[in-house]
Amino acid sequence: MSAPTTLVWLRQDLRLADNPALYEAATRSAAVVPVFIWAPQEEGDWPPGGASRWWLHHALKALRDDLQQRRARLILRRGPSLETLRALIDETGAGAVYWNTRYEPALRKRDEKIAEALRAEGITVATFSARLLHKPDAVRTMSGGPYHVFTPFWKKIRSTLIVPDLLPIPGLDATTAPARQPASLPLGTLALLPKIDWAEGLRATWTPGEQHARQRLAYFLDARLSDYDDARNRPGHDGTSTLSPYLHHGELSPRQVWTAVKNEMHNGVTPQAAESWLRQIAWREFSYHLLHHYPETPTAPLKTQFKDFAWTRDAEALERWQKGQTGYPIIDAGMRQLWRTGWMHNRVRMIAASFLTKDLMIPWQDGARWFWDTLVDADLANNTMGWQWSAGCGADAQPFFRIFNPVSQGERYDADGAYIRRWLPELAALPNTYLHKPWTAPTDALHTANLSLGRDYPTPMVDHAVARDRALAAYQKIR
Ligand SMILES: Cc1cc2nc3c(=O)[nH]c(=O)nc-3n(C[C@H](O)[C@H](O)[C@H](O)COP(=O)(O)OP(=O)(O)OC[C@H]3O[C@@H](n4cnc5c(N)ncnc54)[C@H](O)[C@@H]3O)c2cc1C
Repeated sequence: MSAPTTLVWLRQDLRLADNPALYEAATRSAAVVPVFIWAPQEEGDWPPGGASRWWLHHALKALRDDLQQRRARLILRRGPSLETLRALIDETGAGAVYWNTRYEPALRKRDEKIAEALRAEGITVATFSARLLHKPDAVRTMSGGPYHVFTPFWKKIRSTLIVPDLLPIPGLDATTAPARQPASLPLGTLALLPKIDWAEGLRATWTPGEQHARQRLAYFLDARLSDYDDARNRPGHDGTSTLSPYLHHGELSPRQVWTAVKNEMHNGVTPQAAESWLRQIAWREFSYHLLHHYPETPTAPLKTQFKDFAWTRDAEALERWQKGQTGYPIIDAGMRQLWRTGWMHNRVRMIAASFLTKDLMIPWQDGARWFWDTLVDADLANNTMGWQWSAGCGADAQPFFRIFNPVSQGERYDADGAYIRRWLPELAALPNTYLHKPWTAPTDALHTANLSLGRDYPTPMVDHAVARDRALAAYQKIR
C-alpha cells in the first residue's frame, strides 16, 4: 500500500525531470517532501571538495527555485542522515522514503544501513537507478567477472542496453505538500560557498542548474556534435559538451543524454558522430563498473605491482604543478584553466596527469586529490579511473612506458596556440614555433614578445628526456 506522505531524499540527482525517485513518489503518494541533507562526514575520505561545494550550492538554489515556481518546497537539512530522516518522518508523518542509488563505496554502505534501520521501524524504503544507463554490476564477461577492457564492455552495453522512456517532471505543487510542512534551513547555513571568495572564475564560466544543463545539451547537439570527433581533442576550441559537472550533480541524467542523441540522429547527425560521443558517456559507465568491483581503487592501484613503485614525495614540485609553473606551456595552461574555471579539457587532463606521475614521479593519488578539490565535476569513479589510466596502473590504462611528451602533445593538439594564448597571456606574443617550447626561442624572439624567461614565465622544471629515462628505469623494477 502506498504511503500518504513520502520523503524523497535527493542527493546527486538534483533535477525534476527523469528523476525516478521523485516521479514514483509523486505518482504513488498524496504528499511529497523533497529533502536534501548535507552530511559530508558520511562520505568517507571523499567529502565534496571546494569547487564541488560551490557548484552544489548553486545547483540546490536552482532546484529550490524550480520547485518554488511550482509552489513546492525543497527542505534543506544537515546530517547525520539517518537521524535527520527520522526527524522528518516524525515532523511530516511520512510512511515512506525514496531515493536514487549512489555507488560510491562509503555511501553504498551508509545507505544500506539507513534502509535497514528505517525498514525495521516500519518505514517503506524504495530505491531507484538514475545515475547510470546500467547498474554497475549489470554486465559481466563470459567468465562472469568484471570487464577490464573498455571496448568489449562498450560492445556489451551497446548490444544489451534498453533505455526506457524518459520520465516527465511530476506534478508537484501546493496540493502535493504535506499537511505539516517541515522547516528548512536557509541555503547559506550549509556554508557551501568559500569563506574567502576565490570563485569569481567559476561564476564567470558556469550557470549550474537543470534548466541550464538542458540548454547546454541542446546547444551541443545542435552546434557541436557533428564536429565532435575532430574537435574533441583540441582544447583551444569549444569542441566538447562541458556537461560533466551537470552529469556529476545529476542536473542531467545519462538517459536524457542518450535519448537526445538518438533523436538527433533523425535530424541529420551522422551515426559516427553520435557513436563517438556516446562512447565517452560509456567511459563514465565503465568507471562506475570498475569502482563497484574494485572499491579500494580511489587510493590503491588496480595493478597491484604499482604499490612497490618508487614514487617521489616532493611537495615543492607538486606545488609548481598545481600552480601551473612547470615551464611546459600545455601543462601550465591546463592547471591554470582548472584553477580559474574548475574544469580542464580531457586531453590536457591526460597530459598533466602523465607529467605529474611520470616526469615528476609524484604519486597519482596526490594528483587525484588536487583534482578532487578543484574540479567542479570531481567524481570519484571518473577521477579514479582517469588517474589510474594516466599513471598506467588501472584497467585498460595507457601503459606506463607510453609517456606523453608535453611539447609534441601541445604542438599536435593546440597547433594554432589558441589554448596557450588564452591561459598563458604572458606567452601570447610568441610565434607558434616557440609557443610550446619557449626556452628554445632565440633572444630576439623573446625580446619582441616582451618575455623574459625565469621572470615572466619559468624555464622547464625538469628535462623531459631525462625525466622519461628516470621513470622508465623505475618502471623496469616493478615490471
Ligand atoms: C586524470 C583525469 C581525471 C579525470 N577526472 C574526472 C572527474 O573527476 N570527473 C569527470 O566527470 N570526468 C573526469 N575525467 C574524464 C574527462 O576528462 C571528463 O569527463 C571530460 O573532460 C568532461 O568534459 P565534457 O563534459 O566536455 O566531455 P565530453 O567529451 O562532452 O563527454 C561527455 C561526457 O562523457 C563523460 N566522459 C567523457 N570522457 C570521459 C572519461 N575519459 N572518463 C569518464 N567519463 C567521461 C563525462 O561525463 C562527460 O561529461 C578525468 C580524466 C582524466 C584523464
